[in-house]
Formats: sequence, C-alpha cells, structure tokens
Amino acid sequence: MDEFKRIINSLKAAVESERLAGMDAIYFPRKKRDSSAAENETLEMLETEALKCRCCPLVKTRTNVVFGEGDPAARLMFIGEAPGADEDRQGRPFVGRAGQLLTRIIEAIGLGRKEVYIANILKCRPPGNRNPLPEEIAACHPYLEHQVDIIKPRVICALGKFAAQTLLRSESPISRLRGRFYDYHGVKLMPTYHPAYLLRNPEGKKDVWEDMKKIAKELGLNVPRGKTN
Ligand code: SF4
Repeated sequence: MDEFKRIINSLKAAVESERLAGMDAIYFPRKKRDSSAAENETLEMLETEALKCRCCPLVKTRTNVVFGEGDPAARLMFIGEAPGADEDRQGRPFVGRAGQLLTRIIEAIGLGRKEVYIANILKCRPPGNRNPLPEEIAACHPYLEHQVDIIKPRVICALGKFAAQTLLRSESPISRLRGRFYDYHGVKLMPTYHPAYLLRNPEGKKDVWEDMKKIAKELGLNVPRGKTN
C-alpha cells in the first residue's frame, strides 16, 4: 500500500509540475498496433474506436469525429489537415467549398470520389480552424498510420503544408516539397497544395495539375486533356 501511495504521489507531482510549466491538458496518444495485429483489423473496427476517442482535448470542442471515407481498397488516398466547420457538422471529410474543388481535382484525373479514400491528419476539428498543435498531431497520428496500413494505397497525395510536413517529418515549405514523390512507409507520397489554398490563390492550380498528372501516370490512368477549375 505504501508503494501504491508513493506512485500516486509521484504522479500528482508530475501533473502539478506540467501544470506549472504551462500545460493545461494531458494527451494520451493512441498506441500504434504491431503489424500482425493490424492485419486483423478492419477500417470499420478502427473507425468504431476513433468515434469514441478521448485521447486529446479536441474531444471537448468537436461535434463529430471525421474519420475518413471512400474505397477501403483505394489505390489513391488523399490526406488533408483537419476537419473544418462543415466537416465537423457533417462528420465527413472535405465537404465544404475546398471539398468541392477536391472532387473536381479527383474527377480531372478520371476517378470518382468513391474510388479514392479521403482522410485528415486530425480526426477532430481544432476550434476556430486554428492550426493543429504538435501534441494533437502526435495524439491522433496513429489512427492515420493505421488507416494507411489497412488501405495500402499505391499513392498518397498530401494536401497542404501540415499534411506534407507531418507525413514527411519535414519543415520545408509546401512550395518546395510539392511536385515529386517521396517514400512514406513504402507508399509513394506526392505533396501538393491544399484545395483551400487554391480557392485563395487560383494561380496555384497549374502546379496542382502538374502534380496530379504525375499521380495519374503512376497509377496508369489515362488523363483527359484539361485543367482543374
Ligand atoms: S483529434 Fe484524434 S486524438 Fe484527438 S480526440 Fe480526436 S480522434 Fe482522438
């Protein structure tokens, strides 16, 4: 019993010292499964777990967990940053104006939304659409890693700075990262601009189109002539 009290007291002291250092929340990152366990898990099982997740403080402000959607055996997976207001309300990724543009980008390479898989780095919306915190990314990232393990896409397209920098563990700007393939856990990863950025900066569409043509070629798709609009 003395040993138990000692452990409790040292835990209390550790929490108090974090509080004094300015930490106002405690994060419990989801554990990454070992690969043999991952083989037996389905996307539905992972989603069921994510819908109940309380691993970071975003649980207090979210309306819905936005797990992701699409073909569980998709060859192409898009990964964005985090849900926005529309996505938080509907529980689906990329459903606002940026999502409509993403749908047109997907269709421009001859695929439909249901033929790809779309997810985000964070499954819950940061309040006021602020940038994700490193602690939130660390807490949530195992879900995404596990989604990739289950889906096994041929190509991942990282949408925007946060997705690209997080997946590539890089601090380089997206303008420097985009346009070529990298390796992500054995999957080819192409960073490109986020559709929300394109809504504010339409001149970036030609670069995204170049990136999408490379993805289409990698997947053996015949790309129709034309541009994203
Ligand atoms: S953002 Fe991720 S880690 Fe945080 S509560 Fe939502 S699902 Fe859990």
